[in-house]
Amino acid sequence: MRRKLLLGNWKMNKLISEAKEFALASHELADLATKSNIDLGVAPTFLSLQAVKEAANKNMIVAAQNCHYLPNGAYTGEVSIPMLKELGISWCIIGHSERRTYDNETNEKCNLKIKALIENEMVPVYCVGETLAQFEAGETKKVVGEQVRNGLKDLTAEQVKNLVVAYEPVWSIGTGKNASSEIAENICGFIRDILKEMFGKVSEEIRILYGGSVKPVNVKEYLSCPNVDGALVGGASLKIDSYKELVTNIL
Ligand code: PEP
Repeated sequence: MRRKLLLGNWKMNKLISEAKEFALASHELADLATKSNIDLGVAPTFLSLQAVKEAANKNMIVAAQNCHYLPNGAYTGEVSIPMLKELGISWCIIGHSERRTYDNETNEKCNLKIKALIENEMVPVYCVGETLAQFEAGETKKVVGEQVRNGLKDLTAEQVKNLVVAYEPVWSIGTGKNASSEIAENICGFIRDILKEMFGKVSEEIRILYGGSVKPVNVKEYLSCPNVDGALVGGASLKIDSYKELVTNIL
C-alpha cells in the first residue's frame, strides 16, 4: 500500500520570515496528515530550508528544489548534497520543467543527480512531463518514456524503491489548465509500466505524483486514480489556508 504524498513546491517565493511563518502555522495540519497516513511536505528555496526545517513539525518533509551532483568544487551558485544533508534535508526535487526549460537540465544531468542523491540515502522526486507542442503532436508517451528511462538509467531495483516520480505536463504548470484525471491516470500508469519493465516488482512501491494546477477543488479527483499516489503542487501550496484545504479535501 503506497502512502499518499502531497508536496508543495514553493519555487522562488517566500522570504525566510514568510517561510518560517508558514512552517509554524502548519503543525496541526502535519499531525492530522500523519494520523491520516498522508506524507506532507514543502520545498522552500535553499535560503529558507534551515528555518523551515527548524520551525516545522518533525513529520513535515522539507525538500530542496535542486542540487548539484558533485560534493564540492568550482561551481558558482550551486548547492551540493552534503550541504543539504548538514541541514537535515533528505528530499530533493530533480528535473522540474522550469529547470529543464531555463537551466538546461537534461535527462542525463538528472540521472547524475538522482544517482548522487540515492548514494547519499536521500529521496529524489524526479519530475517528467511533455510540453504543449509535444502533447499536441501526440508525443507524450515518447517524451515521458525517454525522461523516465534516461533519468533512471543504470539504477537498481533496490536503489529506486524510495524514489518518487512526478508527472507534470508542462502545459498545465501554473496555467490553470490542468490535465484531466483520465490523462493523469493514463500517463502515471504508463510510467509505472516502464518502472516495472526496468525494475520489476518494486515498481508497485514507487510513488507517482501528478502535478499541474492541482487545487483544493480538484485534488481528490486526481488522488482517486489508482496510479496517482499524490500531488506536486505549486501555487496552491503557497498559502497555508489552501495548503490545509488540499489535505482536508482528500481525507
Ligand atoms: C509545480 O510547480 O510543480 C506545479 C505543479 O505548479 P502549479 O501547481 O502552480 O501548476
